[in-house]
Amino acid sequence: MATLEQYDAIIIGAGMSGLYQLHRLRQLGLSVRLLEAGTGVGGTWYWNRYPGARFDSESYSYAYSFSGELLDEWDWGEHFAGQPETLRYLNHVADKFDLRRDIQFRSRVAAAHYDDETRSWDIRVEDGGRFACRFMITAVGPLSAPTLPAIEGTESFTGQSFHTARWPHQPVDLAGKRVAVIGTGATAVQTIQEVAKTVGQLTVFQRTPNWCAPLHNAKIGPEEMVRLRAGYPEMFQRCQETFSCFIHTMDPRGTFEVTPEQREAFWEKLYGEPGFGIWQGNFRDMLTDRRANALISDFVAGKIRQRVTDPATAEKLIPKNHGFGTRRVPLETRYYEAYNQDNVRLVDLLDTPIQRITPTGIKTSDADYDFDIIIYATGFDAVTGSFDRIDIRGMGGQRLKDRWQGGPETYLGVMVNGFPNMMMLIGPHMALGNIPRSIEYNVDWVTGLMRHVHDHGIIRVEATEAGVTTWTDHVKALGVGLLSNEVDSWMTGVNRNVAGKQVRVVNRYSGSAPAYRARCDEVAANGYRELMLG
Ligand code: NAP
Repeated sequence: MATLEQYDAIIIGAGMSGLYQLHRLRQLGLSVRLLEAGTGVGGTWYWNRYPGARFDSESYSYAYSFSGELLDEWDWGEHFAGQPETLRYLNHVADKFDLRRDIQFRSRVAAAHYDDETRSWDIRVEDGGRFACRFMITAVGPLSAPTLPAIEGTESFTGQSFHTARWPHQPVDLAGKRVAVIGTGATAVQTIQEVAKTVGQLTVFQRTPNWCAPLHNAKIGPEEMVRLRAGYPEMFQRCQETFSCFIHTMDPRGTFEVTPEQREAFWEKLYGEPGFGIWQGNFRDMLTDRRANALISDFVAGKIRQRVTDPATAEKLIPKNHGFGTRRVPLETRYYEAYNQDNVRLVDLLDTPIQRITPTGIKTSDADYDFDIIIYATGFDAVTGSFDRIDIRGMGGQRLKDRWQGGPETYLGVMVNGFPNMMMLIGPHMALGNIPRSIEYNVDWVTGLMRHVHDHGIIRVEATEAGVTTWTDHVKALGVGLLSNEVDSWMTGVNRNVAGKQVRVVNRYSGSAPAYRARCDEVAANGYRELMLG
């Protein structure tokens, strides 16, 4: 029988949310342990080491803002930093705030059961370690449960194969190799444009093309860094005010309120600018008005046709089943031009589906392809997937996975009735957007609740059923009319590789971040009276 360690709080996950939560709870004087499956800190940036992995949001807008000292001492090397730089940054944060002493690595949480008699959680890790805590805070991330394709034969392949989110820590020699990439999401796009530079032959297996737009990354020199730093207060303030916490925000004009020439000029400008402007800073009706969405889609399709030399390949790369921006827009650097290289070919799985993975490669309905390396850029069991992979049970042994079978149900995205003393960071029904900005708010709110609980000797906190129903209905209502909710993607909870995840659900909050914060602030200001406290 494993020895039982007892804590006031256990945090699961050492990514951006878990690290900051650990820092804040320690400031309250609580005994806290953070359990992390990996061997180091960083979460997303620890696991996703695939070639070309980098930010799609401006580095400085993605960083923590809670410490002036940290902001002062960290220089970013690029506007959109690569994964190694971001991982260095998060390691620096862990060192600076001496976080590692309360983190237990190589500890994947397998089960968490709530016991209402002791008002505590019983947490077990895969190696058999066991912990008891009053409060359990999940910091498991919305995109951290990788999924391999549900294709027969993946185990039979005799070459090397990797999921992008399980990329090895040692360098993988791709030079001159015959490489396959399955998938064309944001991860695949970054991988493809990077590995195309070195591999012998690259074959991309595409099921659904995505609308991609140029990243326009650039290095940050010392003088520019000084300028950027001077603008931090204004920039972070802006992120607090925008819809999704990005530095970009929707243009107040409607697509049809300007002339066709003005529209075209605006889109040309956005296409030529760095970052998510073309997605997050476009006309306000782009994601709700079908005609507006069709026009911007035509504009981007025109760009793809200009950039890809072979017209047949260009047509395959243009999405036909969804409009621009209705799925997460992958940002790219010469992604489309990669298809003009002699060593890169595109296999359209809509024409010739994969039948199986073979010992030597991939068999489609019309050909056998041999490879040295297969890269699975096949995405994640998103948002609820990392919860599903833990056997979480609340009152009366109810499983969270069962509770969420028809889609997540939450109170403010933070709690679930029937699961007392469990708080979720960046859980379902939370504002995603520029995630670290949401994380800081989310962590500060949970910390405020924990302070209240601590100060009042409260040992049990639970959302009410009515609170969960009202919030869940509100989140669903916010999604009505959004074109993105009519499309299969991780944002609508669809993953065809996972049983039970074939039907669209509303799994994220699609209102504005300021509105979300206002609602949460109101709950705190009212002394958390909406919760059952005991
Ligand atoms: P994803 O967007 O879900 O893409 C997965 C890809 O794999 C899709 O093209 C999918 O095709 C394909 N796929 C899955 N199963 C398949 C199968 N059995 N056969 C053939 N194709 C299959 O996942 P992702 O690219 O990892 O990106 C997920 C999210 O992570 C992004 O949207 C973004 O939010 C985040 N991300 C962020 C960054 C960044 O900020 N820099 C970088 C990368 C990712 P279908 O579309 O047909 O299902």
